[in-house]
Amino acid sequence: MRSSPARASQAAAWVRPEILSLSPYHVPDATGLIKLDAMENPYPWPGELQEAWLDALRGVHLNRYPDGAAHGVKASLRDAMAPPASTDLMLGNGSDELIQIILLSVAAPGRCVVTPGPAFAMYRMISLFAGLDYHEVPLRDDFSLDPEALLEAIERWQPAIVFIAYPNNPTGNLFDPGALRQVIEASPGLVVLDEAYHPFAQETVMGWLQEYPNLLLLRTLSKLGLAGLRLGILVGPPIWVREMEKVRLPYNVGTLTQVSAAFAMRHAKLLDAQAGHIRQERERLHLAMQGIDGLTVYPSRANFLLFRTALGMASRVFQALKDSGILVKDLSGSHPLLTDCLRVTVGTPAENDAFLRALTGSGAR
Ligand SMILES: *Cc1c(COP(=O)(O)O)cnc(C)c1O
Repeated sequence: MRSSPARASQAAAWVRPEILSLSPYHVPDATGLIKLDAMENPYPWPGELQEAWLDALRGVHLNRYPDGAAHGVKASLRDAMAPPASTDLMLGNGSDELIQIILLSVAAPGRCVVTPGPAFAMYRMISLFAGLDYHEVPLRDDFSLDPEALLEAIERWQPAIVFIAYPNNPTGNLFDPGALRQVIEASPGLVVLDEAYHPFAQETVMGWLQEYPNLLLLRTLSKLGLAGLRLGILVGPPIWVREMEKVRLPYNVGTLTQVSAAFAMRHAKLLDAQAGHIRQERERLHLAMQGIDGLTVYPSRANFLLFRTALGMASRVFQALKDSGILVKDLSGSHPLLTDCLRVTVGTPAENDAFLRALTGSGAR
């Protein structure tokens, strides 16, 4: 196959301009590093549980397609999440896929998405893939919601979808519920509240699904401890879910994922206990980081902490941490409100200690 300039320009001629102008989502190589960059649960399962899980997988018939409606795993998830009886569930290959399904269901020329930001990067990327315009409304300096600005944007743009993560990623805070209600009530289209960090916030708007016909809720098993499985959950009114089910590809959630997720839900106590350890460690880490001169640490209800280094130091601190064997996320340069900001995922006590040691020696001051 030739790889000539002519072929390159052929790609440029056919791939949509909005895709050509994107940079691919970058997943850094973490080989040999303590991985505190991606909000993963750091605790593996104990040996007996691993064995029991493998036993559960032995009954799987990989020659058959998965259960397209995922009855078994949905029943386990309903038990674990207790959504209102009036709602339906839809499952995705991670909540990323559900975000894609939601957006594809409404995408049409001239339609748009509104999000308070900085926000989860996928809202913007998938909006662009789907051909939707994307409008971000800046949060206030303390990362709280600016209800006036958001309501004005909703009035002006009449968005098909408003995405809000609760707690927010990458800032870690929970928004004011009163302001969220105003947003839902003012929105002409759907509001999607993304509770990816629910295990660490222990706050939910699940009950609101009984009040608002234009509200959808997203959850995921990723941050709880099953990032490798890829299972996201959408909860919402049947009239919306029914339509979005038409966009979902028939076998989007594999049998191994369905069986493993149902197994994990039977052992939800263990995952909840792990989330409890992570919440405790988050508080300890927050306190210790507050004691480091020159750092600003923001309050978090998630399993990560956002922090600001001294002026212009973020990339140097990021590199110094990496040289000490610790990978965090460098957010400086990603958004005007995130100048000099890095994000660290809460790890095990030993990992957090290693991070604190490296941070103290990094010249963050
Ligand atoms: C991590 C994250 C997700 C994606 O979760 P997956 O289920 O792993 O695709 C969705 N929303 C927010 C806000 C996140 O931080």
